[in-house]
Amino acid sequence: MDNYQSEFEVRLPIGYRDPDGTVHRRVFLRKMRGHEEAVLYDPTLSGGALVTELLRGCLVPRGSLARMGRDTVSGFYSADRNYLLLELRRITLGDLMEATYPCPACGAMVGVTEDLGLLPVRRLEEGEPLSELRLTLEDGYTDRKGVRHTDLTLTLPTGTDEEFVSPMVAKDPLKAQDALMLRCILKFGDLPRAALEAYGVKILRDLTLGDRRLLQECFNDRTPGVDFVRPVSCGACGTDFSGVLDLSHFFVAGQGGTGYAKRCSTWPTTSTGPGPRS
Ligand SMILES: [Zn+2]
Repeated sequence: MDNYQSEFEVRLPIGYRDPDGTVHRRVFLRKMRGHEEAVLYDPTLSGGALVTELLRGCLVPRGSLARMGRDTVSGFYSADRNYLLLELRRITLGDLMEATYPCPACGAMVGVTEDLGLLPVRRLEEGEPLSELRLTLEDGYTDRKGVRHTDLTLTLPTGTDEEFVSPMVAKDPLKAQDALMLRCILKFGDLPRAALEAYGVKILRDLTLGDRRLLQECFNDRTPGVDFVRPVSCGACGTDFSGVLDLSHFFVAGQGGTGYAKRCSTWPTTSTGPGPRS
């Protein structure tokens, strides 16, 4: 009997909402082929657009995804897209992956063989809606009238957000990161929407480093998706630290071998893209 498996069922951490409002969690992937490899080397695609094309080629158009277009995949939450990249890597090239992490203490590149099947994935419960994130900053933002704003209501980024900011990544990674966060802010204290849109990135730059860290942690620690933060131990100096497994090396051996790696190396690394935390 032929046991060949061509389609692989996966369960999205969040799920996507179809035009009728129904949330779907089950999708089917097939292995990457030469068509998708060509996508990795397409210099016209930004990081976000590349992930959309890659997933569109490997998601099996059946069931609720039968009429799937580019917009459908762009509309997926980044957490689901990153999870799909992980699963795509596993079914196409296997679970084991050579990763390297720079040691923050001595600068040595620490090589680790990671088992991608062991990465923790936080999922919403079946039927559990994705709730808005709420966060209170310590210092907050003081506007021109002297009013201090500290309470944030946030949502999670989607592929559409990635596609919007990823052309900025190569030139100004911090600006790209701020632009992405800005798109995820639904409400910031009593600031009118217009002020947020007009001064958005400037407002984020005015935040203290402590508040910016709180904001990043809010996205990373309390949200569904794959936890790409790995414990690493440096053989050269003995330091233990946390490294972020770099998605951009999932399909390409070595460092920076393709435009894909260059376009994605800063973002999207995790669902929101902050660099390694030590
Ligand atoms: Zn070291």
